[in-house]
Amino acid sequence: MTLLDGKKLSEEIQRELAKKISILKSEGKKIPHLAAVLVGNDGASETYVASKVKACERIGFGSSLIRRDDSVTQDELVKIVKQLNDDESISGILVQLPLPKQIEEEKITYAISPKKDVDGFHPVNVGRMVKGLPCHLPATPHGILLLLEKYQVSTEGKHCVVIGRSDIVGKPMSILMSRNSYPGNCTVTTCHSKTRNLKEICESADIIVAALGKPEFVSGDMVKDGAVVIDVGITRIPDSTKKSGFRLKGDVHFQSVAPKCSFITPVPGGVGPMTIAALLMNTMNSFSLNY
Ligand code: NAD
Repeated sequence: MTLLDGKKLSEEIQRELAKKISILKSEGKKIPHLAAVLVGNDGASETYVASKVKACERIGFGSSLIRRDDSVTQDELVKIVKQLNDDESISGILVQLPLPKQIEEEKITYAISPKKDVDGFHPVNVGRMVKGLPCHLPATPHGILLLLEKYQVSTEGKHCVVIGRSDIVGKPMSILMSRNSYPGNCTVTTCHSKTRNLKEICESADIIVAALGKPEFVSGDMVKDGAVVIDVGITRIPDSTKKSGFRLKGDVHFQSVAPKCSFITPVPGGVGPMTIAALLMNTMNSFSLNY
């Protein structure tokens, strides 16, 4: 079994980006700048945004964190996004989800200029992804593709089972694994909360992408020998022995699944760091290319 080490690959990608930035700086040129918008005080969202901003600082990107409290109105948030769209010094915009109930997330996602939509959630980017045109791929699926590519995991003709159909992970992952390219060319089965016989479907999978948000849901008896297992799940489990007060659990029961796998991602250290690397790559692309 080979561990798909997302932490290591993410650091490699960040080192490469840092080199490019230091060249731009030494030539006195502009550098990419990521603007993150965070609403409220949700602990997980704070951690995710902080790690994205920290990564920008580490590699030399400019970054701004715009914070508003839970009572922010939709109009106010749209206005902030539009100002960032118009600001030429900003290359990428991310609005951390989820947003408070009074705000329709789609109104905010759709307000972001597709060129600066480094999360890849805007319908223009989604449409371009489906058509196989250049675009910002959603960060988590993009990070998974980079990991599969790095470890030269074979995907052509394989049966890939994606558990979860969210707009940000499951749905795009299914589309990307079925496209006519590498990684891709899989026969994809998308599973969700209404899927019947999930265990049997998983048993026939060469590749499983677990993105349902249920800790340790995928167990050893669901996985065939030699399978590739990508664990997207992150759930915080209270743990008083940890300084943070919690530990992270994936959607895969690592102990029983890993011995059967040819490749598997750990949690933490697998898909999470790759999501950050992909976000930084999207920001660099937004800065240097015109989609
Ligand atoms: P979501 O809640 O939006 O979607 C969950 C999906 O799982 C739904 O489509 C639902 O139909 C499906 N599902 C739920 N129960 C199921 C069951 N019993 N059987 C089959 N399908 C079932 O979740 P999401 O935003 O896609 O996130 C999924 C997980 O991935 C969460 O733990 C989240 O924290 C994590 N996540 C991690 C990263 C990362 O960078 N590692 C990024 C995004 C999300």
